[in-house]
Amino acid sequence: MLHVDVLSVLTDNYIFMLVDETTQICVVIDPAVADPVLDYLEQNNLTLSAIYNTHHHNDHVGGNLELKEKTGCEVYGYGPDRDRIPGMTHPLKEGDMISVGDSQAVVIFAPGHTLGHILYHFEKDRKCFVGDTLFSIGCGRVFEGTPAQMWQSLEHFFHMPDETEIYCAHEYTLANIRFAETLVGEDVDLLSYKEKCLEKQGRGDPTIPTTLGLEKHLNPFLAVVSADYRDHIGFSSSSSLDSFANIRAQKDHF
Ligand code: ZN
Ligand code: FE
Repeated sequence: MLHVDVLSVLTDNYIFMLVDETTQICVVIDPAVADPVLDYLEQNNLTLSAIYNTHHHNDHVGGNLELKEKTGCEVYGYGPDRDRIPGMTHPLKEGDMISVGDSQAVVIFAPGHTLGHILYHFEKDRKCFVGDTLFSIGCGRVFEGTPAQMWQSLEHFFHMPDETEIYCAHEYTLANIRFAETLVGEDVDLLSYKEKCLEKQGRGDPTIPTTLGLEKHLNPFLAVVSADYRDHIGFSSSSSLDSFANIRAQKDHF
């Protein structure tokens, strides 16, 4: 079984520590900074075997070199981004399999936020590490790609089971809910999710992970796939892609 611990760093970043419970093998997803990871390893008496990066932004790779130097770990990332991901030792491509002890993940190429963004999907463990592609009730800004590329990347989520836990790299949930409310108004399910998130944040707990089933239902950037939802937000005559692009543009200026 794969165990995940969430480290909260910088303003709103999450670093995920993955530990295979059988072998005690430990990897880190997107170490924005090194110190909290080093502290975690020491407190839990673990050795870091690898860093898995989702994309090259500094708030995801900032701790790479220090961790590599201090622990001797391997560094995995999207191959063509080798020059942008510090210390890369293992270039990855779409469809590659990686493992954390007995748990395996498939690498999914998901450009849009950047042109080299990847997701790590642990199918059997029902967990997906999505970097800045999907957020709870939101999605990443389209910095390097096109809205069409981002939409194609998001479409991967429709092929994953609803119970999949989604590990997003930022705590943006409440701000995203405020935006979603401008689209759907007083939605009972969204309100009840907001209450839950407010409670968690009030206790100082992350709202992450979220689940894919909830996101398909409440996240405007996934829900647009449904004609009923498009009707509801006044985009009846638009395609999923056009509606997605429109909402993404609105959110950019929210
Ligand atoms: Zn980013
Ligand atoms: Fe980020």
